[in-house]
Amino acid sequence: MRPGTEPGRSSSGIRDRDWDAAVAAIRSVPLDAEVQLICHVNPDGDALGSMLGFALGLRQLGFTGLRATFPGEFDVPEPYRALPGADLLVEEREAYAEPALILIFDVASESRLVGLAGRLDGAAPVVVLDHHASNTSFGDVNLVDPAAVATSVVADELLVRLGVELDAEIAECLYVALATDTGSFKFVRSPSVHTLAARLIATGISPGEIARRIFDTRPFGAMKLAGEVLGRALLEPEAAGGHGMVWTYATNADLERHHQRPYVLDSLIDPVRGVAEADVAVVVKELVPGEWSVSLRSKGGVDVSAVAVALGGGGHRLAAGFTAYGTPGEVIAQIRPLLDANLA
Ligand code: AMP
Ligand code: MN
Ligand code: MN
Repeated sequence: MRPGTEPGRSSSGIRDRDWDAAVAAIRSVPLDAEVQLICHVNPDGDALGSMLGFALGLRQLGFTGLRATFPGEFDVPEPYRALPGADLLVEEREAYAEPALILIFDVASESRLVGLAGRLDGAAPVVVLDHHASNTSFGDVNLVDPAAVATSVVADELLVRLGVELDAEIAECLYVALATDTGSFKFVRSPSVHTLAARLIATGISPGEIARRIFDTRPFGAMKLAGEVLGRALLEPEAAGGHGMVWTYATNADLERHHQRPYVLDSLIDPVRGVAEADVAVVVKELVPGEWSVSLRSKGGVDVSAVAVALGGGGHRLAAGFTAYGTPGEVIAQIRPLLDANLA
């Protein structure tokens, strides 16, 4: 049954009683209560944009005790530092110890909350907003729509249900989130995405300026680093049942040589993904010695979410990731048989 055709479900595929429970959880806390918003480790544009856009909506409603955070090093990627609402961001250690309410954005499983996962065991209700098919429903209220292209789609609908009026600051955050997770609207699956984009743009935000800042601006060193990392890519035409795999890796030594922060590696999956001879693209990025963050992409020949889940990670059918151990060659050796086992 298609989302929206089932009784009790809105067009989002999320049940009305879950929307109602989320609205009730938010309305039940006093406006001066401590409200903690959290997004995933190594936050991307959807994680930060949906979290900060939602926080600004709560601020509009009169909430005064808002803090937003993410686990790990407090390294906000440069393109997102000027997002509206960034003043609400605090380091992990400044997160409320016992908030009255916890709101979680773009997090498929508790492992993506790393050191903050323990906060979920307190008395506060936990409301999860997400769009990963692999979401483990770890919240008290789970607003998870695998058909949504970004968590910001879910955040927008909850803001509407709370009576928040869209303004240019909220819209900029939600637009950044939407543009990031749709690859600048290349992975759109429904006209409703552009309907939402139109509503956001109608507030007066500047999509061209936002796109230049988020996608088309990088330090010289990041460009040189990309040249090296892409230059060492390997093509394996026989992999993934003959659909082909292309892969490369980047180390902390690469980052240091070019004086770059780890997040600059996150966009490298895009040129790798464009290789015509391979269905599957993989970038293996060093976190600490022997530990790697792996990005997987498919053009449709393989369900890379299943591959990632089998290796302890998660994601979507065509874009997924996991944490891996060993050398880059050993990581790829773990992936190869799982590609063959998960042909679409
Ligand atoms: P990335 O390659 O980092 O852009 O991530 C692609 C997709 O996979 C996103 O939807 C992520 O949320 C998800 N993902 C990446 N790494 C992990 C992980 N370690 N565990 C669970 N999901 C992940
Ligand atoms: Mn994300
Ligand atoms: Mn997302």
